[in-house]
Amino acid sequence: MTRTARGRFRWRTKIRTSLPWFLVNRGLAGKGTADCGDHEWYNADGEVECCYHCAAGRRPYDPTHFAPAD
Ligand SMILES: [Zn+2]
Repeated sequence: MTRTARGRFRWRTKIRTSLPWFLVNRGLAGKGTADCGDHEWYNADGEVECCYHCAAGRRPYDPTHFAPAD
């Protein structure tokens, strides 16, 4: 019983953490292609940065954007 419950919990956790956040955010907020007004960037492919929250947020990739702030 306990072992089964734990295994099911692990399985669900793995699924949730493997979901791309931009899909999760889009699904919850329903923002689609509108500008979210508060871009949060991620490195899409080493050339372009995209916003987690909307499809309107795109800019050229710059590694300094992701450097730790001192
Ligand atoms: Zn955005």
